[in-house]
Amino acid sequence: MLDALSERLQGTFRRLGSRGRISEEDLDAALREVRVALLEADVNFKVVRDFIARVRERAVGTEVLKSITPAQQIVSIVNDELVEVLGKDSKPLEKAKSGITRILVCGIKGSGKTTLVGRLGMRLKREGMKPLLVATDFERVAATEQLQVLGRQIDVPVYFEEREAPAAEVAKRALREAERTGANAVIVDTRGAVALDDDLMDELAALADEVDPTEVLIVVDAMTGQEAVNIAREFDEAIEGTGIVVTKLDSDTRGGAVLSVREVTGLPVKFITTGERLEALEDFHPDRFAGRVLGMGDVVTLVERAREQMGEQQVEQVAQRMRSGQFDLEDFLTQLSQVKQMGNMAGMLDMIPGLSQLKDKAQIAAVNEAFLKQAEAIIQSMTLQERHNPDILNGSRRRRIALGSGTTAADVNRLLNQYREAKKLMQMMSGGGRGAGGLRRLLGF
Ligand code: GDP
Ligand code: MG
Repeated sequence: MLDALSERLQGTFRRLGSRGRISEEDLDAALREVRVALLEADVNFKVVRDFIARVRERAVGTEVLKSITPAQQIVSIVNDELVEVLGKDSKPLEKAKSGITRILVCGIKGSGKTTLVGRLGMRLKREGMKPLLVATDFERVAATEQLQVLGRQIDVPVYFEEREAPAAEVAKRALREAERTGANAVIVDTRGAVALDDDLMDELAALADEVDPTEVLIVVDAMTGQEAVNIAREFDEAIEGTGIVVTKLDSDTRGGAVLSVREVTGLPVKFITTGERLEALEDFHPDRFAGRVLGMGDVVTLVERAREQMGEQQVEQVAQRMRSGQFDLEDFLTQLSQVKQMGNMAGMLDMIPGLSQLKDKAQIAAVNEAFLKQAEAIIQSMTLQERHNPDILNGSRRRRIALGSGTTAADVNRLLNQYREAKKLMQMMSGGGRGAGGLRRLLGF
């Protein structure tokens, strides 16, 4: 997801970070690269323009350039502003305070509406609600059937009518059916046209009047880029949306839609979907998404899972060490082996700072055991002093460590680089900046 953008941004920051001092020209050059990267990812040009201006203003205003870690601070500002553009806080699905939660799902044909209706049905059922899915699309017979198949798959009832009738009337009867059967959530699938024409607009307006929706979700397909953003705006003007769902982010897409749609429509992104399987529905968290874009890993999700797995005490220990700026190779090793315990290496790799930047993730995921053994062997071949302060390792010591651990000097160097990346991020996360807020809150410091 957004791999091209992510790689370009990381490249820019790496080049910036390799300079000792950063001049205002360096900053401008870097921001130009960021700008091009965003435009290439198909982010709306106005959004890009404002974004760059805000980053620049903050970087200059806070005298970042004179600080001792200017590159890190710039990354941190870019991260903060990305989070801002993406909507800052996550906005969960709204539920009715009393009575039936009513969700309208609209969007153009093929954007992923019907699939989303199934996904939300599954989600709400898991949360213990009693959903009813409603078919109102008579354009294609297959549309109703598709929803019935989904309903059977997740064991959730579907309301549909054999004879064609206006969508608003079908919805009215569906609500009655919900009351009769004790359903407390109604998820209405709507017809999708190739474009939002007057007919569809009238139909949706009548539907919204009848349903009095708790949520009006506008579904857009990430693959259509800028067009997705325009479509979202049109739908919002026509029937006042309450949230956006961006689908097909798994595809090889430039993904700029996610980064623009909030700023352009003012509506929060509530979910993203990343595959054809029903399970591929993710709550949208601006901070985590920004982290993924910047290749800093989704540390927050990682920490959440770590909490579940290893308990409060160990998390507190890690937090303590981060706080005090200590994060040595032993901590790094602990972190790696904890990830192993948590399983699903492939999914986890994206979340670990440093490792998320590796190109051959798949390879590592496949040989994760071997990878960990190697890291362990290398670190254990070091003296205690070296483990605590790897900077003292010179060329000849590295060769000896390679020899001692049955690896190569390149393996040793790679491990040290991964460790440094992780440490840099740890320092950034614990060293302030609004972007770090989520993690700090989570870790309780
Ligand atoms: P609708 O016309 O808006 O109701 O769209 P559908 O729900 O029928 O979806 C259209 C196609 O997109 C189907 O083949 C879905 O399987 C596919 N689809 C939906 N969401 C995703 C997604 O997140 N990723 C991918 N790859 N395909 C998706
Ligand atoms: Mg459909």
